[in-house]
Amino acid sequence: MYRECRTQSCLIGLIIAFFPLGMPVLFNTGPAYSQEMNKIAAPQPDSVVAIVGGKLIDGNGGRPLQNSCIVIRGNQIVAVGSRHETPIPKGAKVFDAGGKSVLPGLIDTHFHSRDSVEQPVNFELHNGVTSFRDPGHPFKYYTTLLASDARIPRVFLCGGHLDAPPVVWPDQAAVITTEDEARQAVASHVDRGASAIKVYFRLPIEHIRAACQAAHDRHVPVTAHLELVDADDAIEAGVSGIEHITSFGTSIGTSDQVKQFKSMVSADSGARREWRYRLWAQVQLEKNPRVGELIDLIVQRGVFVSPTLAVFERRAGKKDATAAEAAGFKNMLSFSGRCHKAGAKLVVGSHTWVPFAAQGKAYLREVELLVEAGMKPLDVLTSATKTGAEFLGVDDRLGTIETGKLADLIVVDGDPTTKISDLGRVTKVMLNGQWVDLPSQ
Ligand SMILES: [Zn+2]
Repeated sequence: MYRECRTQSCLIGLIIAFFPLGMPVLFNTGPAYSQEMNKIAAPQPDSVVAIVGGKLIDGNGGRPLQNSCIVIRGNQIVAVGSRHETPIPKGAKVFDAGGKSVLPGLIDTHFHSRDSVEQPVNFELHNGVTSFRDPGHPFKYYTTLLASDARIPRVFLCGGHLDAPPVVWPDQAAVITTEDEARQAVASHVDRGASAIKVYFRLPIEHIRAACQAAHDRHVPVTAHLELVDADDAIEAGVSGIEHITSFGTSIGTSDQVKQFKSMVSADSGARREWRYRLWAQVQLEKNPRVGELIDLIVQRGVFVSPTLAVFERRAGKKDATAAEAAGFKNMLSFSGRCHKAGAKLVVGSHTWVPFAAQGKAYLREVELLVEAGMKPLDVLTSATKTGAEFLGVDDRLGTIETGKLADLIVVDGDPTTKISDLGRVTKVMLNGQWVDLPSQ
């Protein structure tokens, strides 16, 4: 779909180029929505690398291929197949991946950092994340990173999230009070390179709708963190991504619970931290028609769901969790599993820092929790790669190991299709056809 948009823009661009006078401006001249903010270094176009002998998990979700061979020329994958049927070109630098698994580079759809080069490198790239999106921090937080000459993942930004007064994060929000302001914020974010727009939870539905219309005019998706607006209303208004599983709570709670939750959070945004668990602890997932209706809508509209379970993880008897928190988290896990089972597109978002993971391991914790939620490890790996690339709008060039794709890939010890925690045993990372120097090597 997005490729068609681009082709169309190109055609119209050509028409304008040939008939420049008196023509209305038919298309925007902003950057393509799916473009990363940074230029990624590439190797010499004639350099060849072959990765042989590994178990290939190509991101498409099919059965892994034992004893594989992947040939990379320059920054592109030019051949993929079994070791015996895929010739290794002369002069290729051969990497032996025997006993290891080879996967597409991981995609983190929910990563925040602020004026940091260290976090995107140490938390993300060195742990196999080759692309990330920050849903909603202002561009200025990335000036330092984008100006640095460190090797960093592909960086996708949304600009400051759109919120309404009293905004929750004054230093991060674009403050919106009218539909016009919503449209203007979208336009200015996209002009600066935003490849998605994030709407935040105090923004009323009519301003979410205006933001969606403006974003769609620019071929950019909108993703939402919700507390006060119901997820089904936001989806009907045009939102195509939902950040945080908690965003679904008001759509499936009983009306009394939801009323109380909304009045608490309207009065004090900070109340969401306690009250979302109270709401989720009481949500009925069995025999609740609202659950089925909501999940049907998510599936029908192809909405991307980024549960970010790890940031909400609370366990009975651990880290002072209350009974409501532990019960609420259990229901969040269960609802995530139901979404997947029904065919919803789940993606992996780390949220940078989470309670039950060491520094830099939030992404790993999230994939482990998706397995606990009921997903097969192989399906989680598809979420972490191909589906993440679809959400970022880069699936035409990233997200799978296939001929013609860019060579963002990782090599891990062991087999994450049988043991998901093996995804934490990253031994090699290739970004755009070049191996990344990892600290332990
Ligand atoms: Zn966030």
